[in-house]
Amino acid sequence: MRPVPTEQLRHYVVASTSDTVTPVEVYTGAELATLPRSGPADVLTAVERGRRAQTAWAATDLADRKAIFARFHGLLLAHREELADLVQAETGKARRDAFEEIAEPVLVTSYYLRRAGALLRPRRRAGAMPLAVRATELRVPHGVVGVIAPWNYPLALSMADAIPALFAGNAVVLKPDSQTALSPLLAVDLMHRAGLPEHLIQVVLGDGPVIGAAVVDSTDFVAFTGSTRTGIEVAARAAERLIGCSLELGGKNPMIVLDDAPLDRAAAIAARGAFANAGQLCLSMERIYVPEPTFDAFAKRLVAVTENLRLGAGYDYGFDVGSLVSAAQLKRVSEHVDDARAKGARVLSGGRPRPDLGPYFYEPTVLAEVNPDMLCHTEETFGPVVSLYPYRTLDEAVLLANQSAFGLNASVLGDARRAAAVAPRLRAGTVNVNDAVNSAYGSTDAPMGGMRASGLGRRHGAEGLLKYTEAQTVAVQRIPVLGVPRWLPFRVYARVLVGALKALRRLRIR
Ligand code: NAD
Repeated sequence: MRPVPTEQLRHYVVASTSDTVTPVEVYTGAELATLPRSGPADVLTAVERGRRAQTAWAATDLADRKAIFARFHGLLLAHREELADLVQAETGKARRDAFEEIAEPVLVTSYYLRRAGALLRPRRRAGAMPLAVRATELRVPHGVVGVIAPWNYPLALSMADAIPALFAGNAVVLKPDSQTALSPLLAVDLMHRAGLPEHLIQVVLGDGPVIGAAVVDSTDFVAFTGSTRTGIEVAARAAERLIGCSLELGGKNPMIVLDDAPLDRAAAIAARGAFANAGQLCLSMERIYVPEPTFDAFAKRLVAVTENLRLGAGYDYGFDVGSLVSAAQLKRVSEHVDDARAKGARVLSGGRPRPDLGPYFYEPTVLAEVNPDMLCHTEETFGPVVSLYPYRTLDEAVLLANQSAFGLNASVLGDARRAAAVAPRLRAGTVNVNDAVNSAYGSTDAPMGGMRASGLGRRHGAEGLLKYTEAQTVAVQRIPVLGVPRWLPFRVYARVLVGALKALRRLRIR
């Protein structure tokens, strides 16, 4: 990998303490960089500076904002290899997963370059009285948006929120996970090289409950991506200040294999859906429902695909699956598999750590005979572990798929028309037909997010931009027809008003 440009990146961290955070290379445990650690006062400083910069930014012509993002788009692509190096080093993921991660900010930037003008422009609305009142809906930025991002897709998830927030005229205070701050910092550097004015995006680093909480306590809107447990805390804190938040949270995502699905193709899609990013993907498939008669044949094929996956550390495309991110993540995954095994689950493939490959590697694992007493039945594992369940009827499969507190992503494999007809019966924010993740996630024009315990609000599409604004109605009374003239008794005015309301209804104006 290329050397980490630490000096160039630390410049964007707002920190007045002498403490530091030290991300490590996941494959080896070697220190990657020493970055400044922010204190709660630094968050306030960042918000104040952001607030000052935002006023001028919001007044800038959208065309000028767009010109900066057009340059940023080019810079992201030009620096893709450096970005991929940093993403891999700080997360331990495979190169192919790192490369897919870079596609997200590129797609989001080009999407809003195309759509922001139409979405943000003032809209004429029918006024209170035809001709007499002209009403216009404006989209006003919140001010300073706090973006809190997790470690699993550090570049994609910090940028997927920061980019539309900036397009909409906000400033951003970004708090990435301290272990995975380098790739978002390089993206912030590229934004500045593209011409973004100072202080519009600033980074704060430190422990989530301290620095993340300070971000929620001082910004005007919070875009949070992370676990459901933390999301609930963030929502409660935001509610105390009556600020809005969007929450992109966990999942326990189901895949339904229909009885007409070609099994080889289904197994290949299932393996990618379960083991991409070593399963540390909120949209990962963790439960697969298979028709009873084809259960064994599908399981055999999935095991074959799984055992062909190349697991290992390297900054090239030689491996399909990389490492888990940390000791904590390895512990969680091991606990889920050991618990299932001890309670009678069958391990069809994998099921053990691989310290010979690196400190946090774990084999892609396929389980069967998993029951509700086991941790991996209900809780999000967030690792390369998938459970297979047989079903008898489609209704039963839908019922089982919906038996979860979460509702993030789902997949249905089989004849495209039949599979698409199952989709609306699933309680999930996205449903991929004949795919697991990328078809829905890559459709940047469509909203993306979770139902139930998987979150609030959406990223991507119109919602992904408009959530960074508030609606403001400006109504201009052009002819003074509203209100009671002093000379008119109110009784008469009331009669006139009722007549007018009836007429408006008849004319279908109101
Ligand atoms: P996490 O909730 O532990 O941390 C997420 C971020 O929040 C980190 O930056 C962390 O420092 C910060 N944080 C922690 N405590 C905080 C607090 N009290 N107040 C404010 N901020 C706080 O999650 P994680 O372990 O980093 O990420 C994994 C989780 O994220 C999984 O559950 C995964 O499903 C979810 N996730 C969801 C999506 C999505 O788009 N729905 C995407 C990726 C990950």
